[in-house]
Amino acid sequence: RGAFSYSTSAAIEEPLTPSVKVDYTQLLINGKFVDSASGKTFPTLDPRTGNVIAHVAEGDSEDVDRAVAAARKAFDEGPWPKMTAYVTTLHLRLKDQGYFCALLICLKNIMMKLQHLRLGIMESHMNRLPKLKYQWLCVFFRYYAGWADKIHGLTVPADGEHHVQILHEPFGVAGQIIPWNFPLLMFAWKVAPALACGNTIVLKTAEQTPLSALYAAKLFLEAGLPPGVLNIISGFGPTAGAALSSHMDVDKLAFTGSTDTGKIVLQLAAKSNLKPVTLELGGKSPFIVCEDADVEKAAELAHFALFFNQGQCCCAGSRTFVHERIYDQFLEKAKALAVNRVVGDPFKAGIQQGPQIDTEQFEKILRYIRVGVDSGATLETGGERFGSTGYYVQPTVFSNVQDDMLIAKEEIFGPVQSILKFKDLGDVVRRANTTRYGLAAGVFTQNIDTANTLTRALRAGTVWVNCFDVFDAAIPFGGYKMSGQGREKGIYGLNSYLQVKAVVTPLKNPAWI
Ligand code: NAD
Repeated sequence: RGAFSYSTSAAIEEPLTPSVKVDYTQLLINGKFVDSASGKTFPTLDPRTGNVIAHVAEGDSEDVDRAVAAARKAFDEGPWPKMTAYVTTLHLRLKDQGYFCALLICLKNIMMKLQHLRLGIMESHMNRLPKLKYQWLCVFFRYYAGWADKIHGLTVPADGEHHVQILHEPFGVAGQIIPWNFPLLMFAWKVAPALACGNTIVLKTAEQTPLSALYAAKLFLEAGLPPGVLNIISGFGPTAGAALSSHMDVDKLAFTGSTDTGKIVLQLAAKSNLKPVTLELGGKSPFIVCEDADVEKAAELAHFALFFNQGQCCCAGSRTFVHERIYDQFLEKAKALAVNRVVGDPFKAGIQQGPQIDTEQFEKILRYIRVGVDSGATLETGGERFGSTGYYVQPTVFSNVQDDMLIAKEEIFGPVQSILKFKDLGDVVRRANTTRYGLAAGVFTQNIDTANTLTRALRAGTVWVNCFDVFDAAIPFGGYKMSGQGREKGIYGLNSYLQVKAVVTPLKNPAWI
């Protein structure tokens, strides 16, 4: 932990030079911010420049052990799971307030803190999405606070001779692993339902974005969350993440990240104590523009569906299927939108696209662009690094993309739109579903029959019709196929943090009493 004064001189085009104090860089274990057992730290970098923002404690298996022990004690002996629903609700509401206020403060500071905490949500995007804004984050706590006093199980008639109560109980210690692309949002999706059900938590943040969860957790402590209920470990996947996944005293695991890592995590869980695992994984979502679409509006929505958050969205509409009759017209509009997209330092007003998260993602995206060109797709615009500092990539559009090209099959996770031509609904359904993923899909049409046909035929956890990226705490989210297992958000997210216990009692005294 320490004060950190930050300024940059090397960012592109007259960078703003904010001074930011980063106060919370240690691990949170048992209600206290502490150094890692090894004393090791790792740097967290500014994606605009590659400069160090802060050095953060690096948690490892020993720290995971300490955190799990604290969470276990808080669950077994502490007040949290035994609190009445009313008190749980109160706690959550208090936290909600604290969270809300803090986010407001951040926003007042021209998003400075948020940006420096590398949320990945740029102010410009928030302007485009007024409904989502920061409410996106605290709305989950408000929603699940509402559920906390409504978890009451069931009574079933059974055989007429027994009274059967079905109790819904917390699992115990929940291990949670989150990615970097929406660090606070992923934190909210995981933490809010787990707490509402009375679980205690050990959460591992992504190594690229360790700061925001620590800051949020500090607000929770201020709101009176008992020690050990929420523990935060910063650190790397193969060390801290693996230790959490394979921990014998973690009762339930929730993971969001890539499909490849999801497989590893599932194996670790199976090989240790067979803890149930929820997986939210990658995607290669189709965005289908039908023949009857208003081309201008369709191009705008398809642009947003792909380029939002620099293309770093699990559900990004990364395969834009356009009907052959309007394909050329659509392509012109899509290209113009990408050409006019304003890239730069996200602290500046009017910027629509900031840098990618780190050098690894930046290089991966440029590699995919080269593969796209080599495989014969037509590079309509972009394709290069933007500027000479930081991890900026030009908004890129490929046309003439074929289903078997790598750029149409793999998750690029960057500002690269791939446009494919289709003939009819049967053709597009088959091709849209020809993927190992099934996270989301978009449909753009004015015809209700077309909409109904596509929404039923597409194998994806979410289908947005004439909209995209609409999230609400009550709407379940998750994937078909290799995009995941289970659902987050809504009542489905709640249920994944509850055990079911049947309590059976004779209605009449049995003979032996
Ligand atoms: P990633 O799989 O590399 O990392 C995700 C998390 O897993 C990080 O905290 C990382 O430290 C940890 N991890 C890495 N190796 C591990 C291991 N061996 N054991 C345990 N934990 C390990 O993914 P990423 O690059 O950080 O995130 C991008 C991916 O996340 C994309 O594929 C994206 O589609 C996906 N994602 C999915 C959703 C969803 O809701 N479906 C949401 C956001 C992101």
